[in-house]
Amino acid sequence: MPVLGAFVAVALVVGLGHAAATARPQVSASPEAPPIVAPHERETNDNGDAVREGRDYAFQGRINGKPIHWSCSNSIPVAIEGKVPAGAAAALEFVVDRLAAASNLPLTIEPGTALRDDGNGAIRIRYVDEGEPAYGMKVSGSVVGKGGPTYSSSGVIQSGRVIVRNDMDPTTPTGQQVLMHEIGHALGLDHSQEGLREVMTPTSPHDAKPVLGPGDRVALAAVGC
Ligand SMILES: [Zn+2]
Repeated sequence: MPVLGAFVAVALVVGLGHAAATARPQVSASPEAPPIVAPHERETNDNGDAVREGRDYAFQGRINGKPIHWSCSNSIPVAIEGKVPAGAAAALEFVVDRLAAASNLPLTIEPGTALRDDGNGAIRIRYVDEGEPAYGMKVSGSVVGKGGPTYSSSGVIQSGRVIVRNDMDPTTPTGQQVLMHEIGHALGLDHSQEGLREVMTPTSPHDAKPVLGPGDRVALAAVGC
């Protein structure tokens, strides 16, 4: 299985997130923005350093200094559309539970048929073959998944879309990690630096696990409720 070499690219950053940013000129990531994490929420990484934006975690964009984020007012349906591979429903339940616990976002798993036709207000997921288009995205080569949000000019995420390659078996820790990572993009997270024990690391080691790292947790709290 070629994608599970020493390192597997989990995703190009956000097809959709970046498309939305291009369409809306005010959207820009601001590296100088002050840290949005209150001191009492700081966590340390494996080296004992306080986690830091730009290394241990990142956001896909900031509007007026605040990371783009979902509204806390309405439940956020998360659904697999189309064919659901064996074990994917259980994997989704597991990763959404972890992401909701870390963010306090009102994520709810729904059947794909329950979504509005336009998918607004929801995170839509499809398992795809290599090269198969879905939601205007494709995965090929070493890329095993993609995900991202669309968001308004006020920085509120309107929808999320995720594709995961069918050979990322959702019954395996790696398959679960890929699913969790791509949903993380749909929640507004970008990549940590490479080589860290974060779900949002740009590539997925062969022993990847769906376990949130300290940077993941700080970022999820920051985009959360
Ligand atoms: Zn990614």
